[in-house]
Amino acid sequence: MIRENIIYLKSKIEEIAESYGRNRKDVRLVAVSKRFPADAIKEAQSAGQIIFGENYIQEMLEKYDTLKGEIQFHFIGHLQSNKAAAAARICSMIETVDRIKLARILNKQLRTLNKKLDILIQVNIARENTKSGITPQQTEELLKGIQELDMLRPLGLMTMPPFSDDPEGSRIHFKRLKELADTLGGKKLFYNNSKIELSMGMTNDYAVAIQEGATLVRIGTAIFGQRSPNTNIM
Ligand SMILES: *Cc1c(COP(=O)(O)O)cnc(C)c1O
Repeated sequence: MIRENIIYLKSKIEEIAESYGRNRKDVRLVAVSKRFPADAIKEAQSAGQIIFGENYIQEMLEKYDTLKGEIQFHFIGHLQSNKAAAAARICSMIETVDRIKLARILNKQLRTLNKKLDILIQVNIARENTKSGITPQQTEELLKGIQELDMLRPLGLMTMPPFSDDPEGSRIHFKRLKELADTLGGKKLFYNNSKIELSMGMTNDYAVAIQEGATLVRIGTAIFGQRSPNTNIM
């Protein structure tokens, strides 16, 4: 099923993008493989999927060691400073940078690895107490600090909107993330200000996210099925 799900979603994503006047290649799929075993990733790879999202470093490391072939891990969980070295080594993108201290630690690790790393800033767009991410107001200051860190390439913003059963509930938050990104891009605070990445949209609301400008959608359930709550499969 995983194969079929990937193929279906990729064509669906392109179809939605085109129907909203966007280029069909503008939106990339991040297959969120958290809590699914390496075999599930292999099946997705066989359908041509390259980017996978993980939210626990230990779990990602274990999978990384068993997987071969072309694979890019995006880290999408809360990143603790003491896990930054492993994340810097393995990930092709960290989507959840939300504080200058973490950015500095990553930069230091990346220097020893001689590796430049794509990052996104995680924004707590609705300012929920329970969510990680920086507030919209503090994002500019964080990006200014990151400009001095030579190994980090801040490509854009990522968000998780408040939970809602109705995908339309996410729309206002996606709109706000896009507006924030455009404002910051106007101040030349990203690595490439003419192509700012926006990681937003999951299984329930990815269609709305694409309409509102997402360039990365993070989809787990619609590819791999329901996750058992809080059990690590690996
Ligand atoms: C789990 C997770 C997803 C995927 O959620 P689904 O609803 O299963 O598609 C996306 N983004 C983040 C940050 C996640 O933790």
